[in-house]
Amino acid sequence: MNLEPRLHSDATPGPGFVFDNSYARELEGFYVPWQPSPAPAPRLVRLNHALAGELGLDAAGLTTPEGVAMLSGNALPPGAQPLAQAYAGHQFGGYSPQLGDGRALLLGEVIDRQGRRRDIALKGSGRTPFSRNGDGKAALGPVLREYLIGEAMHALGIPTTRALAVVATGEPVRRETLLPGAVLTRVAASHVRVGTFEFFAAQQDMALLRRLADYVIARHDPGLVNHPQRELELLRAVCERQASLVARWMGVGFIHGVMNTDNMTISGETIDYGPCAFTEAYDPQAVFSSIDTHGRYALGNQPAIAQWNLARFAETLLSLLDGPPEAAVEQVTAVLEKFPTRYEAHWTAMMRAKLGLDELADPADDLALASDYLRLLHEHKVDFTLGFRRLAPAAADDDSPLRKLVGSGAEALTPWLARWRERLCSSPLPPVARRAAIERANPIYIPRNHCVEQALTAAVEHDDLAPFERLLTVLERPYDERASDAEFAQPAPAEQTACYRTFCGT
Ligand code: AMP
Ligand code: MG
Repeated sequence: MNLEPRLHSDATPGPGFVFDNSYARELEGFYVPWQPSPAPAPRLVRLNHALAGELGLDAAGLTTPEGVAMLSGNALPPGAQPLAQAYAGHQFGGYSPQLGDGRALLLGEVIDRQGRRRDIALKGSGRTPFSRNGDGKAALGPVLREYLIGEAMHALGIPTTRALAVVATGEPVRRETLLPGAVLTRVAASHVRVGTFEFFAAQQDMALLRRLADYVIARHDPGLVNHPQRELELLRAVCERQASLVARWMGVGFIHGVMNTDNMTISGETIDYGPCAFTEAYDPQAVFSSIDTHGRYALGNQPAIAQWNLARFAETLLSLLDGPPEAAVEQVTAVLEKFPTRYEAHWTAMMRAKLGLDELADPADDLALASDYLRLLHEHKVDFTLGFRRLAPAAADDDSPLRKLVGSGAEALTPWLARWRERLCSSPLPPVARRAAIERANPIYIPRNHCVEQALTAAVEHDDLAPFERLLTVLERPYDERASDAEFAQPAPAEQTACYRTFCGT
């Protein structure tokens, strides 16, 4: 398997994409070569200059008519090999044998400035052989949402796919009403999902499945290439990445909303910001997605669902493992059973950081302290983000912002605060440093649902991108509190949050 970048000697003019398409090259049979549909009147709505720089692209070149043509699917950058990837997936627990890129195309891969291989894909670029009844299109609002939340997650330090650009197509798309259409350029460590493995496992084609596993190992876990049990170790690595990822989601109150196996990456990046939302008043049962009627993907269910999805991944690997089938089952089961412990390790480390605790005490005691705090936040309907952020001044002996936030329940906090302070005292850090450390672990700005909706409404209904730009700027620095951005730190009125619903379908 050759994933070494091939260097192109002839520099291409324009935005400077230098593609090296390992997926197209190594995985024939896993995709259908396909062309994007033309956009009648493409207009660049947003370009991610920082990401363009990371990718070694010429941002100015991307804003020219030639660049915008590439970002809309009207023209292909030199070296692109557009293709629709095949995948299956468990959606809300039921198996769908044929999903695949129904409105997305992988253009190819580039090697970024740090030497990382990144997929460049279009989303909303028209029908493909996997479109089923869909139109292959995307609407501007959800595309901007994916852009905004992806950037917010990135700034929060959470692994995520990111948006390079949003182009309005000039073509309306029919949802419940007619909406402006758009194409998102998505950048990912790869688009290989648990569902990609499921697709080929269901066909019982061991040769293809092994090719996929080898490809993924070379791409995401090159250290395992020569491991005698490399598929089992791949499972362990994917479990570890997901344990870490979901712990990070939980640390900011992020509810993915549609954790189907086709939306779980092998790379460990968050993907598909369809119906996602952030919890405000802390509630493990929080669900916002209009289609998640049973709360399968509620905030507090996410770790268990991740493990469930990983079990589906493990099943696809069974036939690749050495030895009799029972032994293979035993081996993957042993890895899967460690998931809760691995999750807890990540969660404990994060909660310690959020509470400003060092690693010197018994982790079980620290976890109990964290759980008790979460219980208080839940009982008194305290905003999750601010509930943690206001611990920073409290660590430097100023309780008043926290008490003000908790309001009538503040008295109930007193015994917990005393316990927490006692634990803090076991570490030699001066209060100022402690406060700063807690601020670094607890964002003050997250993409609050009402702020996101306001920004998208202005952009889509009034063609006013200013609120979107403003919110994006706020979210790019989520840890530094700024008086001028105070409104973005405030939760929505509880009644508004109670009625908030999100929808699938970018
Ligand atoms: P998602 O819920 O966005 O993860 O998508 C689930 C599946 O539905 C994937 O196979 C998508 O490609 C497909 N899909 C979603 N929306 C559309 C659309 N408008 N047209 C065609 N396929 C779609
Ligand atoms: Mg998806």
